[in-house]
Amino acid sequence: MYYVSTRDKLRKTTASGAIAYGLAPDGGLYTPEAIPSIAGNALNTLAPMTYQQRAVYLMNMFLDGYTASELSKFSTSAYGNGKFDDPRVAPVRKVDESTYALELWHGPTCAFKDLALQMLPHLLTAALRKEGEGKTACILVATSGDTGKGALEGFRDVPGTRILVFYPKDGVSAVQELQMNTQEGSNVGVCSVVGNFDDAQTGVKRIFSDPELKEELAQRGFFLSSANSINWGRVLPQIVYYVSAYCDMMKEGALEKGDKLNVCVPTGNFGDILAAYYAKKMGLPLGKLICASNQNNVLTDFIRTGVYDRNRPFYNTISPSMDILVSSNLERLLHDFTSGDAVQVKGYMDQLAETGRYKVSDKVKKKLSREFAAGFCGDEGARDAIARTWREKGYLIDPHTAVAMDVLDQYRAETGDNTITLVASTASPFKFGPAVLSALGVEHPAQDLGSIDQLSRLTGLDAPAPLAGLAGKPVRFRETVEKERMADRVREMLR
Ligand SMILES: *Cc1c(COP(=O)(O)O)cnc(C)c1O
Repeated sequence: MYYVSTRDKLRKTTASGAIAYGLAPDGGLYTPEAIPSIAGNALNTLAPMTYQQRAVYLMNMFLDGYTASELSKFSTSAYGNGKFDDPRVAPVRKVDESTYALELWHGPTCAFKDLALQMLPHLLTAALRKEGEGKTACILVATSGDTGKGALEGFRDVPGTRILVFYPKDGVSAVQELQMNTQEGSNVGVCSVVGNFDDAQTGVKRIFSDPELKEELAQRGFFLSSANSINWGRVLPQIVYYVSAYCDMMKEGALEKGDKLNVCVPTGNFGDILAAYYAKKMGLPLGKLICASNQNNVLTDFIRTGVYDRNRPFYNTISPSMDILVSSNLERLLHDFTSGDAVQVKGYMDQLAETGRYKVSDKVKKKLSREFAAGFCGDEGARDAIARTWREKGYLIDPHTAVAMDVLDQYRAETGDNTITLVASTASPFKFGPAVLSALGVEHPAQDLGSIDQLSRLTGLDAPAPLAGLAGKPVRFRETVEKERMADRVREMLR
């Protein structure tokens, strides 16, 4: 199977080409030319398998040029060996008769990015080998939180890679900062940048487009690469958990094979919910895909009106991983909804770059409203959902998952659609202790590591081991740089 750029359908590459180079040279996203099918008996075949085996079976359908035994090795390293604190990796938990949570936070960093970032390094290093790339890949990440730690854990001690993470000194929580600064591994580097997330990101972008640095690093045997969420190697592993969840629900009798299952996903960059769309397109019996946003509700408006407009205020919310105004992975959906019409997709993306706005055709708009529903809620709504879900269902959720729970309630009230729904639960509540505590009515919650203990005492729940163990870990990285000095820091760290 080949991969095509969303902006030029003549630009084709192999699976390893798509994963090795991430973005197409024309700025488009590499997307499978066709989506394989799991119709027929595949679900019965998959149901008795482990998560690791399901991942091999499904990823193999997309990755010509990778062998099943290669993928099997990757899957064991990514999801086995005690990396996840639940043997089911992405377990489904019943919240009430018609609501189930897909828990995507049992990995090493307690957020859903682990499902993709544990797999990507293996897919990427194999892709570089297949593409004949001899140099060491240096993964450079600017992060406002979850992605940085996820990438550090994913790439730690992976041969042939180095990973350097820059985070804004004033833009991450105390827990997130400590998670990164105590990172173990011989190939990792972490450094804070004076300023906010934009400063860190702009600095990283400047490094990527610095020809002198590129040349200098090449002579020393390095090249720069990224691990961002538009890489196909991050989208693909996410398809697995939707199929896996359906299989688990069949096994437990929550569903009969063929029953419709709605999915509700707290959305930022549109990667997670796009994977659900692909799973449905493969033949998984999913119903409505409900896209939940926080106050940064660009996608709600888009799905409801067909107009994407990023010209609006940006809000910092208690669900920071969804504070996004440009959802990059949406481009892949447009590719699909225009039947691969690269001229049309490029037109939309050019308008977005020039004016911050585009309006899709009626045909695309119809498909949008057929497949998707959308809604949003503010911080107050999310806090209420945390309190409600805890008091009424005995289930503790984080502020991102809370956005999805609230939007699901709104959707059910508006439409009367009571189809069984799977809510993507994207982070452990202990990762966002201060916000969760205040939602539960605690007036002066601890703002740092103390919030983990406090939440544990209040709810009687154990914090995940990687968070509970943070307090005793030695800090390895303390460096802070001005954003102008980030390139020098890269030179030093790659000595
Ligand atoms: C990244 C993230 C999201 C948003 O996922 P997208 O794939 O960017 O839509 C939601 N919740 C949490 C906790 C995240 O880390």
